[in-house]
Amino acid sequence: MGPDSEAVKKCVSVHWFRHGLRLHDNPALLESLKNADEFYAVFVFDGQVAEDVFPKLFQEWGVTRLTFEQDPEPVWQDRDNKVKALCKELEVECIEKVSHTLWDPLNIIQANGGSPPLTYAMFCQVTEIVGLPPRACPDPDFTGVKLPSSVHGDAKFHVPTCEELGVYPESDRQSHPLSGYSGGECRALELLELRIEKERQAFERGQCLPNQINPDLTGLPMSLSPHLRFGSLSVRHFYWLIHRTFMEVTQSETVPTSITGQLIWREYFYCMSVNNPKYNCMEGNPICLDIDWYRNMEQFEKWSKGQTGYPWIDACMRQLREEGWIHHVCRQSVACFLTRGDLWIDWQMGLEVFDRYLVDADWSVCAGNWMWVSSSAFEKVLQCPRCVCPVRYGRRMDPKGDYVRRYVPELQNMPLLYLFEPWKAPAAVQETAGCVVGRDYPPPMVDHKQASKMCMAKMEKIKGKCRGMRLCLLFTASVGGRPEYNAKCSYRVFGSVVNVCTFISRLVSMQITGADP
Ligand SMILES: Cc1cc2nc3c(=O)[nH]c(=O)nc-3n(C[C@H](O)[C@H](O)[C@H](O)COP(=O)(O)OP(=O)(O)OC[C@H]3O[C@@H](n4cnc5c(N)ncnc54)[C@H](O)[C@@H]3O)c2cc1C
Repeated sequence: MGPDSEAVKKCVSVHWFRHGLRLHDNPALLESLKNADEFYAVFVFDGQVAEDVFPKLFQEWGVTRLTFEQDPEPVWQDRDNKVKALCKELEVECIEKVSHTLWDPLNIIQANGGSPPLTYAMFCQVTEIVGLPPRACPDPDFTGVKLPSSVHGDAKFHVPTCEELGVYPESDRQSHPLSGYSGGECRALELLELRIEKERQAFERGQCLPNQINPDLTGLPMSLSPHLRFGSLSVRHFYWLIHRTFMEVTQSETVPTSITGQLIWREYFYCMSVNNPKYNCMEGNPICLDIDWYRNMEQFEKWSKGQTGYPWIDACMRQLREEGWIHHVCRQSVACFLTRGDLWIDWQMGLEVFDRYLVDADWSVCAGNWMWVSSSAFEKVLQCPRCVCPVRYGRRMDPKGDYVRRYVPELQNMPLLYLFEPWKAPAAVQETAGCVVGRDYPPPMVDHKQASKMCMAKMEKIKGKCRGMRLCLLFTASVGGRPEYNAKCSYRVFGSVVNVCTFISRLVSMQITGADP
């Protein structure tokens, strides 16, 4: 083996795109391009078969290096471990970098003594110890790197259409939505610019964005959550741009955490799901309270299809099915209505619907929010003194009724006075509006006042049981200094029910207050 044979060994890099569908702030992609002679970008449509796909590609292209962004969620760990083992076996260098989240969730867990912080408040304390997240890294430079596909793509490398993948619209409104999202990094960066301008104006007025107080429900689709979910926008870029804007406007050196609070909620839910493959379930999930929810299919179908008879709830559910996105206030309303507010139906059934339709459906974030709204975990566990009233809350969020009229066209001509409770309109008003309740639009499926009272009583009963368990739990509570340690220890000793109950009994006995996500 002379020096010549060493010199011919080319560096052939593959960057495996999964989340992180972007060029900017992509540290794994930068590693891929370092000293690369040839570069291939790969996306595997069925992520689970990655370990079958790579051996063929490695051989065909003579690959020497594989890079990818860390996917922190446990659902992907098995797949990634298999691919890492494969690289080791085939002597392919494997590089994984963190950039889907602000911090590496494993660092947070380590800083918290080996277990994830069980409340958002604790999480914020731990991040203060860990320090500010890393800044975004520079853009990639492809100079001198050979790319295999032509500029316009060719038959071998073209992106398949939805039809080729066997994905078809479910309804006409789905094929022609009133308002829809476009994907891609360019669009994400355009939206970010608009978003930052709005943030700047709010800072100049001495405010944060009043997103949940006066939500713009019929405006253009501007949300960045689909882009954060797929990684066409870097969360670190977003975070640091908000920081910079705040500092420019206020000339301040310190930035309050509240201005990036929503991004921190995202981190929190990610961190909580690491090492918890049952995070999206009730059974076997050590942080989730076991509640005897109903599984009433008839009622569930009405909720899911936007046929509850409550126009605010129906508008939200119909927008979700038709457009794949709804505002946070809508998500909270429909999730509360389905679970602890009115129907007492299992949050996992709601999660399935959200996972199916949301364009930003995110394994950790979606399940975390469902547990939160249903009072099944975190600070929120059994803390539900109030629930969303589908009439009053709807009126507050949609004061002119434009949103309800857009998504529930049956009520187009219903006077605003009755729009959120059309069953109260006199028969003549219903006839004139062309919407008779029971004929053109369903009557309310439950009486909210009664249903919410029943749900509240059920929650109180569960709370009582948890209080009753406190004596036996004192043992576990004395094991360590912090609740999360106690929970961990009790989990080993008594099993998951006690694990959660230790935590709950502490929360029930304290008066927990704090911000909602
Ligand atoms: C039942 C339920 C399910 C949800 N499921 C999802 C989901 O699958 N994916 C998802 O991204 N968000 C989810 N959310 C959170 C939230 O509704 C959306 O992130 C938000 O509506 C996105 O709009 P925005 O980009 O304008 O948010 P902004 O208020 O502008 O926030 C900026 C970003 O912060 C993050 N964020 C905001 N709110 C939350 C939150 N409560 N929890 C975690 N991260 C948050 C998002 O990435 C968002 O894009 C859910 C909320 C509820 C109540």
